[in-house]
Amino acid sequence: MTYSDSHDMALGIMSVMQIQRRIAQLQRQLLELGPLHPGSISEQYNVCGQPGCRCKDPQKPQKHGPYYQLSFTWQGKSSTRFLRPEQVKPMRQKVANYKQLRELMNEWVSLGVEMERAKRARAKQQHGD
Ligand SMILES: [Zn+2]
Repeated sequence: MTYSDSHDMALGIMSVMQIQRRIAQLQRQLLELGPLHPGSISEQYNVCGQPGCRCKDPQKPQKHGPYYQLSFTWQGKSSTRFLRPEQVKPMRQKVANYKQLRELMNEWVSLGVEMERAKRARAKQQHGD
């Protein structure tokens, strides 16, 4: 890498070709995304109502759980649902895929803006004004 390459990258300036290459890479990554789902997964521990249960032990209470919950908002509607133990791992993957989709999309949009800027800068140079 030459001095000017690293200098340009440090400033966040990419050439039109670099931008096109990166967009092509993002498109490939988007196609490879598997099943996805918005939201986040949380662990819950409960205390039950049963007298004498271990969750109410005065010395060393042990709550019930973990129970896994998926919470998400989509099209203005919030939902929360419990996950069965065998659903947790696949759902974690779906949630991660959704997060990646958002990141890839954001980067693509940023590159679209950057591309416009790079083209204008180039046109300006070519016309010498
Ligand atoms: Zn209990």
